[in-house]
Amino acid sequence: MVSIKEPQLVADTSQLNWMNTYNQEQLQTLQLVRKYLDGLTPRAFSELKSTLKEYLSFRNDLDTFLTRHFNDICTEQCFRSRLSACCSREGIIAFFADVLVNAVMSDSEPLDRIEAVLSQPNPGFKCIFLGDEGCLWQVTPIVCAMFLCDSAKERVFEGNEELHKCWEALEEQKKRFTWPDRPVLFDDLEALFIDAGLRSPLMYLHDSPGLLRIKQLAGIDTTKR
Ligand code: SF4
Repeated sequence: MVSIKEPQLVADTSQLNWMNTYNQEQLQTLQLVRKYLDGLTPRAFSELKSTLKEYLSFRNDLDTFLTRHFNDICTEQCFRSRLSACCSREGIIAFFADVLVNAVMSDSEPLDRIEAVLSQPNPGFKCIFLGDEGCLWQVTPIVCAMFLCDSAKERVFEGNEELHKCWEALEEQKKRFTWPDRPVLFDDLEALFIDAGLRSPLMYLHDSPGLLRIKQLAGIDTTKR
């Protein structure tokens, strides 16, 4: 069980009045997570980090696969042509666990930069987290990490069934961390905070009717928390 040094874990909402809901939810969650992590003893922090080991190993495998098979095509199609389709949406879905994993794996500076962009309106049509040198997240949200546009998939997988199967295997692995038809890390990380009396609007595995239904169908008790 993770222990907390100082249970002062309420997000600072004083600057939130003018912000859009997306920015508010992201900022509130990041501030909540950072306060929680700041309150952990080094030992408790290290215990929490060790629960992420398997997921981070999966993310490493995923990065290796994407770099090996998609780097050239994505660079050519998106970055040189400035389409950058993957990051062109204004608001991406980030789970609570995404925010927590990124915060655990980041120093203060990149997290400060994320807080800074969330504290001002998004000036363009791109994701608010897209900076001049790429994504501000050290460990990107899983939705982004697994996003491949149809055109890239067609070009890479066409005629290469073996490679396509490797991709499907990675998609299956992702579900073992995120899809709550069994106990999964993303659910556990939300529960850790809920048990500490902390709530975030990004706790979809505990609040989304669709995901709660998945749990119920799998016979998982959703009334405990
Ligand atoms: S969070 Fe990062 S990777 Fe995801 S859409 Fe935004 S800039 Fe792109």
